[in-house]
Amino acid sequence: MSRIATLAVHAGRDDLAALGVHVPPIDLSTTNPVPDLASGAAAYDALASGGLPPADGGLIYQRLWNPTVARFEIALARLESADEAVAFASGMAALTACLLAAKAEGRPHVVAVRPVYGGSDHLLATGLLGTEVTWTTADAVAAALRPDTGLVLLETPANPTLDLVDIAAVAEQAGDVPLVVDNTFATPVLQRPIEHGAALVLHSATKYLGGHGDVIGGVVATTSDWAARLRRVRAVTGGLLHPLGAYLLHRGLQTLPVRVREQQRTAAMLVDWLAGHPLVERVHYPSGRLVGTQMSGPGAVLAFTVVGGFEAAARTVEHVRLITHAVSLGGVDSLIQHPASLTHRPVADCAKPAAGVLRMSVGLEDEHDLRADLEASLKEAHV
Ligand SMILES: *Cc1c(COP(=O)(O)O)cnc(C)c1O
Repeated sequence: MSRIATLAVHAGRDDLAALGVHVPPIDLSTTNPVPDLASGAAAYDALASGGLPPADGGLIYQRLWNPTVARFEIALARLESADEAVAFASGMAALTACLLAAKAEGRPHVVAVRPVYGGSDHLLATGLLGTEVTWTTADAVAAALRPDTGLVLLETPANPTLDLVDIAAVAEQAGDVPLVVDNTFATPVLQRPIEHGAALVLHSATKYLGGHGDVIGGVVATTSDWAARLRRVRAVTGGLLHPLGAYLLHRGLQTLPVRVREQQRTAAMLVDWLAGHPLVERVHYPSGRLVGTQMSGPGAVLAFTVVGGFEAAARTVEHVRLITHAVSLGGVDSLIQHPASLTHRPVADCAKPAAGVLRMSVGLEDEHDLRADLEASLKEAHV
């Protein structure tokens, strides 16, 4: 098997030379000509039930299957060591499909390890899709399982605390119940949850996979059985990734390893500097035995608690000039935000991040320039 940097550049492109092109063609067809009724009906049945298109074509309609989206799926599956992947309109659409697919099997109960992304927390806590959640900690998953538990969900590194969860230990407790790991923060460059026992790996592709802040997308890497279930939900509910978005995500994967490693290098330098800063109470960044084992490195998202609580944290984000005060993460430019006010706004008080915590997604800018911007904004926040 090729190494990840090689896979990132070449996966999902094996047939290009035979097609006589160097970059993937973009197929925007919403509908496809049907050669004859019998083969059209057979293709329709296969695709609508979550299968792959027949070898002789038969694509029918873009909501059922699209070749440009499929290229991105093939590439991401290879990076995550998965059989297949299924792409969606957003990370939330991807999570929605996982929940609906489990519910369709008669298992509407979810065991979730808090903290998770604010939107995921909200979707589970409201039970909007008819699921029911038990919130738990990583060591109490086994005790939370019920006969109707369809999924166990965890996020590592966690958002925004950057605490790590031992995937293999949770997978062992989950037993036969499929474990979903949200791998948005780590990316397959740093962590491949399937190798640690996860059945499904979920991404907000909006973040590192796209990497340039211009595509919303989601994707789940998993077994062929689960991929079929997810495609069926996608075909019926229509949470599709547009082929232009898929093209950009597939292109984004080519530089993913370089971006993640360089952004991580800068983040680690900023963490060292922030840890000694008199206006910073605490720095949150992955550490401990799982770094170097489960995760090959700590990543490029950090958080820090500003001295002076909410007021000082709010003034800090309002005074950055180079760094953008905005939600989201994983792009080539650095972003900073206040989780308790923004991304984690809909989360119950008991699980809300502390008021003085800021989360920063470190981009590809020079470390000295980022440091100067943070230094100036921390100072202005404390005059
Ligand atoms: C952004 C995010 C999501 C949701 O993804 P969207 O693409 O915004 O729908 C889910 N999980 C994590 C960890 C995220 O950061």
